[in-house]
Amino acid sequence: MQYTTLNNGVQMPLLGFGVYQIPDPQECEASVSAALRAGYRLIDTAAAYGNEDAVGRAIQKSGVPREELFITTKLWVQDAGYEPTKAAFAKSLQKLGLDYLDLYLIHQPYGDVYGAWRAMEELYHAGKIRAIGVSNFPNDRVMDFLVHHEVKPAVNQIETHPFHQQVETQQFLQENGVQLESWGPFAEGRNNLFTNKLLQDLAAKYQRSVAQVVLRWLTQRGVVVIPKSVKPERIAENFQVFDFELSAEDLAAIQTLDTNASAFFDHRDSAIVKWMSEVKFDL
Ligand code: NAP
Repeated sequence: MQYTTLNNGVQMPLLGFGVYQIPDPQECEASVSAALRAGYRLIDTAAAYGNEDAVGRAIQKSGVPREELFITTKLWVQDAGYEPTKAAFAKSLQKLGLDYLDLYLIHQPYGDVYGAWRAMEELYHAGKIRAIGVSNFPNDRVMDFLVHHEVKPAVNQIETHPFHQQVETQQFLQENGVQLESWGPFAEGRNNLFTNKLLQDLAAKYQRSVAQVVLRWLTQRGVVVIPKSVKPERIAENFQVFDFELSAEDLAAIQTLDTNASAFFDHRDSAIVKWMSEVKFDL
């Protein structure tokens, strides 16, 4: 496993396992168990995914020492604010069956994120969270947080894949000591990613899968990746990405796929802000 060092010295694996859209508890537990057996140590969940307890069960049953694991969960919009964040954090920790978290992220840049951050800073200082960060924050909001807070965000988890490469954003985050973590490394298969001609040609050249080429391209850029799969063979395949290297020429070729736009939606779209702020989960 390769690691990146966060702005507070914490070591974070460059490759982890994401569990978005695995609502079935048994399927989620089985997938996380398969991931832990395959060697993954970073698991990325969120209160809004509704599967923290399934993730927790897989962790407990795995027998992997706690200090080897890097567990991330996220605070949903309806729990933003100082007191709600403290309560939401306690609930997430309890569901996961843990007594501390490795990384806690503000899931969306909406609602009382300032109050949330004050609570997260306290939990960080109390040793309940090893690193705190944000997700889906545009650069101006990241800068606002950097300038106005004592504890700087360690991570920004944002959509990053071959069709939305975030080259300038990565530069900005690097200059400011914030680690870029990719969500949707395969764009969830959108834009026919898995049958893209260029990616397929590279996969043939390196005798790898398209998925492995994409994960290697991201990790070679120093981007943390958290691919999701419910299939054990794909879970294992996605973990085998550190035993080959893409040439500079091939990295440059992948750059040509960038559309510089989301394959999903824009977090600044007012309809999205409204929808995400109004949707209520049974958290
Ligand atoms: P993703 O990892 O880009 O794509 C997952 C899709 O790719 C699934 O349909 C999966 O199908 C398929 N797949 C996985 N490995 C494959 C392989 N080797 N070959 C062919 N197909 C493969 O999408 P994602 O789950 O949205 O993103 C990854 C993680 O990022 C999430 O699980 C979550 O932890 C995080 N995330 C965060 C946010 C946020 O707002 N912060 C948003 C989205 C995601 P099968 O499962 O059938 O294999």
